[in-house]
Amino acid sequence: MDVTLSLTHDCNLACSYCYAGEKRRTSMTTKVADRALDFAFSFDADEVQLGYFGGEPMMEWELLQHATARAEELAADSIKLKKTLTTNVTMMTPERAEWLKEHEFYLGVSIDGCRKMHDVTRPFVSGRSSFDACIKGLDIILSLIPDLEVIVVPDPMSVQHLAESIRFMIEDKKVHRVSVNPNFYTEWDDEALDGMKKAFEEIGEQYLAWYRSGMMPQVNFIDTKVITQLKEGYSCKDKCNFGEHEIAVAPSGRLYPCERLVATDDGGEMCIGNIFDGFDEKKRAAILSQRGNVNPDCLSCSIRSRCMNWCCCINYALTGTINRTDGIVCFHEQTAAAVADRIGSMLFEERCPAFLRRFYYEDFSDPNPDTTIPSPTQTPLP
Ligand code: SF4
Ligand code: SF4
Ligand code: SF4
Repeated sequence: MDVTLSLTHDCNLACSYCYAGEKRRTSMTTKVADRALDFAFSFDADEVQLGYFGGEPMMEWELLQHATARAEELAADSIKLKKTLTTNVTMMTPERAEWLKEHEFYLGVSIDGCRKMHDVTRPFVSGRSSFDACIKGLDIILSLIPDLEVIVVPDPMSVQHLAESIRFMIEDKKVHRVSVNPNFYTEWDDEALDGMKKAFEEIGEQYLAWYRSGMMPQVNFIDTKVITQLKEGYSCKDKCNFGEHEIAVAPSGRLYPCERLVATDDGGEMCIGNIFDGFDEKKRAAILSQRGNVNPDCLSCSIRSRCMNWCCCINYALTGTINRTDGIVCFHEQTAAAVADRIGSMLFEERCPAFLRRFYYEDFSDPNPDTTIPSPTQTPLP
């Protein structure tokens, strides 16, 4: 079971694209956290993934430590416990970083790349730039947990700085893993879409240069499309377990199928119960039965099996239904596939050692990769 605790509705930043709902000083109580953990460990599972989310979860540092200690106690030696924290790192200190390392946390760090890009969308609540505080926090945590993921959110207002931002993270900050998660919750006009396409192509060129030089950075929109090309699509286990083996707990104790849906915690149609009474099985079953994709256009699409059109949260935000997607996702997926296929083919054809090691020898464990696994083919840009 994957359980995410949304520790608070509060945050010290005021990101323009925040989907965590209106900020308020309402946090989870210890009682709710304890009950949520009892709930999480009540299923017959040999592994529990415990995530912390918000608002900014580090604003509730003592609660986070308490919940972690309790989860470790519940897991004991019989259940494998994975811990993740999604944070803006403005409240990171060397002591906290030590503690996170000691407890083997995996971190998702939200920073929008270079100063120019970050300052467009991620100020402190006061309006002042949070860039220096974020970079300070990133440096602290990177020195102890280098294998973390930086999450960059391009927006129509900031996408022109995206390629520079990814370069900054990988070359200057030595981050190995970067996720580009566009703000799907806003309008992307033609100029903004063009900006996204240019940025993805530029990042593709950088990726070529990095792999040719022997570096192996991970960039999500390229990597997933290379992998799904080689595997001929997402497999079931690649897709999230929205509402089934994956749940989020709001500070109130209400249950949602994914942390992105907690938002203001209005208890509406996406609320599937609470930790005191358990699942509302009727609502949960209705939501689970709708997962997937029913867009007629997708049926004949050549990259259908490689497309994220099944992300229920993004679909819900875009169309009000969890199984129908919309234009921006389509544009993003086609652009990502086109860029990944072009550079994947080039790196394969030239037998780039770093590329083969990353995608064939390591990820696919094939003893004879260049003859048994097909080269990526090419998908046209939208
Ligand atoms: S740091 Fe996260 S929770 Fe806080 S405003 Fe930004 S996106 Fe929202
Ligand atoms: S529904 Fe989408 S955002 Fe939510 S966990 Fe699944 S893939 Fe992620
Ligand atoms: S790329 Fe567009 S048409 Fe193709 S499967 Fe994805 S959303 Fe559907």
